[in-house]
Amino acid sequence: MSCPLCLAQNENVIYKNDLFRVILIDEIPGFTRIILNKHIAEFSDLSLDESLEISKAIYKIEKAMLKHIKPDKVNIASLGNYVPHLHIHIIPRYKDDAWFPDSIWSKKHREYEYKTTQNQIQNYIDEIKS
Ligand SMILES: [Zn+2]
Repeated sequence: MSCPLCLAQNENVIYKNDLFRVILIDEIPGFTRIILNKHIAEFSDLSLDESLEISKAIYKIEKAMLKHIKPDKVNIASLGNYVPHLHIHIIPRYKDDAWFPDSIWSKKHREYEYKTTQNQIQNYIDEIKS
């Protein structure tokens, strides 16, 4: 089996535990992904306790994102159509970003330059680690 999320190469890991890891994706400042450590496809493949632990992580990350990165909206998505290994995208969105109001996987409507500072990202990371 060759699953890119099981192999986990070149990831910017900002937090990890026995159940999952949290990584930052470079293409959008603050774009965060929670990746399950084990290879399962669906959220309901988790035990109820595991699903609650993931839900708490999503909650904490969204709160930290709104506080420090200050997007207009937070998008939370679990797709796994290309890679059927459970992972959750948590994406800061702005009303004038390249894809808004469509998803970031849609065709771009315009060009957009992110104004997020390194300081904001660091405060965001620190809060997620706390
Ligand atoms: Zn996998």
